[in-house]
Amino acid sequence: MRVLLLGGGGREHALALGLAADPAVEVLIAAPGNPGIAEVAELRPVDAADPAAVAALAVETGVDLVVIGPEAPLVAGAADAVRAKGIAAFGPSAEAARLEGSKAFAKDVMTAAGVPTARAYTCTDPEGTARALDEFGPPYVVKNDGLAAGKGVVVTDDRAAALAHAAECGRVVVEEYLAGPEVSLFVVTDGEAALPLLPAQDFKRVGDGDAGPNTGGMGAYAPLPWAPPGLVDEVMADVVHPTLAEMRRRGTPFAGLLYVGLAMTAAGPRVIEFNARFGDPETQVVLALLETPLGGLLHAAATGALADHPPLRWRDGAAVTVVVAAGNYPGTPRTGDVITGADRPGVIHAGTARRAADGALLSAGGRVLCGTATGPTLAAARDAAYELVGGIGLAGSHHRTDIAAAAIDGRITIPGQPE
Ligand code: AMP
Repeated sequence: MRVLLLGGGGREHALALGLAADPAVEVLIAAPGNPGIAEVAELRPVDAADPAAVAALAVETGVDLVVIGPEAPLVAGAADAVRAKGIAAFGPSAEAARLEGSKAFAKDVMTAAGVPTARAYTCTDPEGTARALDEFGPPYVVKNDGLAAGKGVVVTDDRAAALAHAAECGRVVVEEYLAGPEVSLFVVTDGEAALPLLPAQDFKRVGDGDAGPNTGGMGAYAPLPWAPPGLVDEVMADVVHPTLAEMRRRGTPFAGLLYVGLAMTAAGPRVIEFNARFGDPETQVVLALLETPLGGLLHAAATGALADHPPLRWRDGAAVTVVVAAGNYPGTPRTGDVITGADRPGVIHAGTARRAADGALLSAGGRVLCGTATGPTLAAARDAAYELVGGIGLAGSHHRTDIAAAAIDGRITIPGQPE
């Protein structure tokens, strides 16, 4: 099988490692890729925002499967353009990717499908926003309706700040606050059959103890020792299958990766958000534990053959990833600094570039690298991931020091459940 992987972040480096390890994948091409992905794939330039360019590259490279990593090309219609050329694409159509592309659309689908989620109003003017904020009370949750790279959500006790965010965004979803630990569940689906991956937890806030602003994700771990045993089955039955059925009913089946972001509330799991692609950095830990060959799995989903796919196999133990972020991230990151110590297995590239003159590795984004490790226990995986991070030299960089710590120490509790 010849595979083209679209994207160039940490998620795509993790996907590239998984695809390259699949004996059925003979040729792996990545566009645009990154210096880490270059170790396992041939890199090609592409304008990922241009579906016609993506489809043309798929035709030119003669691939059997295109795996689309990021959300922006999906929302722009890259999967549709590839499929129109008769080539299998792992990723939903533009219509189906609206589950991520529009928070209001996602709420509409959830309501129609009876999926448990926060009560919400879509608001376009200050009066409507104020009414919604006052109905739910603090903490206030205000979400930009469109794509915002994980940074369009404000959760605050400050009513003025909530109103200001709404004014900046234009169209927002205001919703009730969901209290409880968060779970990310990835589901591979061909639109009808669906296979859940291991639940993971990521860390959205920039600082230890969940202090500071939201980011694209500062670390992750899997599996979740504190998750109730029946959680995945419950979410498949109450969330995933009803959502897939509603998307089929609308004539826009969702095939690809359905990312279910959940809060474990006292009333049960509630959907915080859907994404239409693998999450970053949870992909790094989930795929580190997946033993089933990745290319075959994604190809089955892309060709409507998932019902015939064997059950997924997982490695024992746990995985942890810790993001090394550039100075000033999640503000405008400091870039162009030389990185040392990245040349070790488990170091995933997220925002790096090679200096043309001498091939030196440079920082080139907000999230620069992820130290990813597995181990027989969560504590062992955590220690190994921090060992990797400790070996990385990057001026001005920062990382969280508490990834997986609360889970390891048994400090995560679901509201209303006995401790
Ligand atoms: P989203 O982009 O929807 O995932 O939101 C980003 C983050 O904001 C989530 O991971 C949560 O930590 C937080 N968040 C979003 N919606 C809610 C909610 N209704 N209640 C509590 N926290 C929320």
